[in-house]
Amino acid sequence: MEIEFVAETTQLKRTIEYLQEYFQKIFNAKSYVEITQLNIKKYYNYLRKQYNAEKVSAHLKKKFPPRENRRIIVILPYDAYVEGLNFVFGIAEENWGGIVFTYRLNPQLYGQPFHPLLFHVRILKVALHEFGHSIGLTHCNNPSCIMWFDKSIEDVDRKSLNYCTRCRITISRKYPRLLRL
Ligand SMILES: [Zn+2]
Ligand SMILES: [Zn+2]
Repeated sequence: MEIEFVAETTQLKRTIEYLQEYFQKIFNAKSYVEITQLNIKKYYNYLRKQYNAEKVSAHLKKKFPPRENRRIIVILPYDAYVEGLNFVFGIAEENWGGIVFTYRLNPQLYGQPFHPLLFHVRILKVALHEFGHSIGLTHCNNPSCIMWFDKSIEDVDRKSLNYCTRCRITISRKYPRLLRL
């Protein structure tokens, strides 16, 4: 399995290095980074001041067509929504990959001082969650499992950085050598 991290600017390089380090710790997967223009402006909804996550995802899926042994994790510093929800922290598609929208993961949005580690841990949690979907996991009813569906930033903060035993078994059945630990 290969994991390709994608961002539009080198400003996210440190964030991506942090993600790569953790992903390499728990998954037997090579990872690499691509910094490239994604041309998603047309999916911005000026009334909501948010990106349409499903449209962005469909666009990126064309740009990075699904490959059996590769998953894409795109990091975008924006706010996004899907119809019926006020916002999403991320979106994913099985057998392709996922997108993390970092805007609502920044402590400053909640009146707190900027805290690089907290910000990075939150991005990592959403990235692990979306990656989980991309390898076939669905939402989990264990509130501390990374596959729990986050309705709020409190949900993100409460979760551990781990897939629960049940989710790990699901991963191992599909991808017997993917999990390291
Ligand atoms: Zn989810
Ligand atoms: Zn779980």
